[in-house]
Amino acid sequence: MKKELAIFTFSDLLHHYPYRHVDKTKITKIIDLNASIEYAQVQGRLMHHETVGQGSAKRLIAYLKDDTGVIELAWFKGLSWIEKTLKENEFYLAFGRLSFFMNKPQIVHPELELLKPQSKGAKNVLEPVYPATEKLKTKALNGRQIGKLTEALFTLLSPKDLPENLPGPIIQKFKLLSRFEAYKQIHFPSSPALYEQALRRLKFEEFFITQLRLARIRFERHQKSKGAVFEKVGELFNTFYHNHLPFELTGAQKRVLKEIRNDTASGHQMNRLLQGDVGSGKTIVALLIMLLAVDNGYQSCLMAPTEILAQQHFSTISELLKDMPVGIHLLTGSTPTAERKYILQSLAEGNLSIIVGTHALIEEVVQFKNLGFVVIDEQHRFGVAQRASLWKKATIPPHILVMTATPIPRTLAMTAYGDLDYSIMDELPPGRQPITTVHRYDSRRGQVMDFVRSEIDKGRQAYIIFPLIEESAKLDFENLMSGYENVKAFFAEPKYWISMVHGRQPSEQKDINMQRFVKGDTQIMVSTTVIEVGVNVPNATVMVIESSEKFGLSQLHQLRGRVGRGSDKSYCILMTGSQISNEARERIKIMTSTNNGFEIAEKDLQMRGPGEIEGTRQSGSLNFKLADIVKDKPILDAAKKNAEELIENDPNLESAENLQLKEYLMSLQGKTPWSRIS
Ligand code: ADP
Ligand code: MG
Repeated sequence: MKKELAIFTFSDLLHHYPYRHVDKTKITKIIDLNASIEYAQVQGRLMHHETVGQGSAKRLIAYLKDDTGVIELAWFKGLSWIEKTLKENEFYLAFGRLSFFMNKPQIVHPELELLKPQSKGAKNVLEPVYPATEKLKTKALNGRQIGKLTEALFTLLSPKDLPENLPGPIIQKFKLLSRFEAYKQIHFPSSPALYEQALRRLKFEEFFITQLRLARIRFERHQKSKGAVFEKVGELFNTFYHNHLPFELTGAQKRVLKEIRNDTASGHQMNRLLQGDVGSGKTIVALLIMLLAVDNGYQSCLMAPTEILAQQHFSTISELLKDMPVGIHLLTGSTPTAERKYILQSLAEGNLSIIVGTHALIEEVVQFKNLGFVVIDEQHRFGVAQRASLWKKATIPPHILVMTATPIPRTLAMTAYGDLDYSIMDELPPGRQPITTVHRYDSRRGQVMDFVRSEIDKGRQAYIIFPLIEESAKLDFENLMSGYENVKAFFAEPKYWISMVHGRQPSEQKDINMQRFVKGDTQIMVSTTVIEVGVNVPNATVMVIESSEKFGLSQLHQLRGRVGRGSDKSYCILMTGSQISNEARERIKIMTSTNNGFEIAEKDLQMRGPGEIEGTRQSGSLNFKLADIVKDKPILDAAKKNAEELIENDPNLESAENLQLKEYLMSLQGKTPWSRIS
């Protein structure tokens, strides 16, 4: 118990930071007290005191007077004890939360200090105010008592108890406070400026240690992990590249291709995150690397989060490869048993080079002869454990390419996925016209539908999306159905045909409806968000999003990405009722002002904070106590850069200047790669 308390005291107390400080350096004249002052410190002569009221309203009031006015000090508890200590006509310093009672200034339960004539005046401190956590409350500690304990702790601590962990050159370069000084100043600052410095130092440390850890994991992976070697660019790759590629690659595609080729030729396992905005052309990059793998005698698999997406990838890729001698199949939950059996056998025997599928691919029964390359599309729907189970399917872990169109802000990506290598495709294929996005109220639905009709009459197709309100599947369904009826009223058969896709349909039904739209047999797709990611119908030029206020920014951006995929001008229409929250209005404003996914992601991050961004929620590496990856981005950038340089120059932290860092990291038992190094 004592030991537990000791650990608790030292570490928890030290890291239980005050959330603010009250300035006790200032004494306010009573006449200057006003409602905008939260805590006040006044000084004056104690006039008289009296007990007033009855029962629970019984209170002790003392009157303190300075040369400008009088303030009431009030106590509801411990009256008789306090009354005995009060000395009339003496000078007191009173501090506490200011309130006004009947327009008169008042401090309830003030901290009161008798002033000796010679010590008149304010104390020179910023006093910390601590939050009382649940954990601490169970130990019957409130904020004030925590402060007392922390203060006591610092009387016992000396700099050698909190030795420096950052390397000297870093300290000097960024003019950081020493670690001991930083802890001291963050709790008990001698001045606001020193408090800021302490904060900066500790934030830097938080980022630096995390980034160092990530850089080290990356380094280890590069060093130790054996990877399949794709040494040659063979015939399949070249034939496809020169004869079957339907377009010239963008600069970004070429660059990423090169990055991946370098990785896959290095002999080390690749683990790369490819971020490319919707429509930037990630699929073709993945396909080219799959061909490269085949050229080198390896099998590849491409995994998509939904059946529809897997299906679509499969048909896109089959079409592209139709004149090439490459075996490719689709494996999903609904693959018929006989076909599945055949596929599994071909994979195990190595007769099948490329398999496209859903998470059905990670099942135990799926065995490869020689898996060398894994592509995971829209990864945020795959857990880390699922990814890991793919690795186990080969003796040498396959190269992994995680592709996502959910634009994660760079800051987040490098923190949440900092152990992955990172490629970015920030260029759209040429000829794309920017999508025009507008906001329309429901009252103008008639005009919106007229516009949709005019586009369809030009031979284009349209999506009309209804939201999923997760609380009620039934309500969603009814909503969608009435929406569907509504759309049908505007677009009657046989001139117009409508596909509808929603979560309650059996997957074959979904598929058939989807395919009819893909083929152009239907002009309108009415759907819930199931089409959110990946679906590619270049002829679709209108995206109407119903109740768009119910969608998050990244979801809206994903949905919008379903249009503007061909060379025709495309439109996104965000419908809402007339009453929407300010936040929803802000989202819509952002959507109508930019098409850039990364910009939107940054805004999303600012509006919601990192914990809410899809795909990063579980990431422990975002749990900083002081630092904020949005507000403290400059510190993060500096910490990251310097951590990477350090690992590059001294990966095992052997130089003298890095020893204290190494010791510190090793003391964080089990939390860093170093704790495994003897
Ligand atoms: P995403 O990155 O969103 O997955 P896709 O790979 O589905 O994008 O590509 C979107 C569309 O752009 C597809 O129709 C694809 O054929 C086309 N495309 C990809 N790269 C190029 C390019 N370099 N030039 C022209 N069109 C391209
Ligand atoms: Mg895609």
